Amino acid sequence: MKRNFRFATDATLGKLARHLRTAGFDTCCAPQGAQDDFWHTLDPKRIILTRTRALRLRYKDRNPVFIRENDPWRQFLQVVRELKIVADDLRLFRRCLVCNRKLHDVDRQTVKGRVPDYVWQRHARFRTCDRCRRLYWAGSHPGRMEKRMAAIFSTQPRKRSDDCETT
Ligand SMILES: [Zn+2]
Repeated sequence: MKRNFRFATDATLGKLARHLRTAGFDTCCAPQGAQDDFWHTLDPKRIILTRTRALRLRYKDRNPVFIRENDPWRQFLQVVRELKIVADDLRLFRRCLVCNRKLHDVDRQTVKGRVPDYVWQRHARFRTCDRCRRLYWAGSHPGRMEKRMAAIFSTQPRKRSDDCETT
């Protein structure tokens, strides 16, 4: 069964936040200079990821994860290990990397011309973010992110056309 991890990160952990969104996790990133009013009003179910010792101490009753690594990918691995996240918990291709909004299916015909032709021809399913209107498809995440994730979770990359869930 999937576990529903939700996160809130320091402003300095923006790239980690994007990695977590790639994995499908609801992740809000604190604005630059966020103070107690931001952290206090967070949903207590959000797991705080921080590089700030003061923040870690202040919210220690919420079991924040203190991020030791500098590299965003290693930070992601640290979170995966500490929280024992497994492949079944992932929801790849489900959330906007920029806005953190859930993506929605979009009619393939309406996407024609908005993505490169070779992409349109190869993919049956497209999703969009209601806020920023970015389009996503299996394989659209930047870099080799999905493959790297598949590798660390020891799963084979899934077939392109059903690389997403229906719920
Ligand atoms: Zn968006």
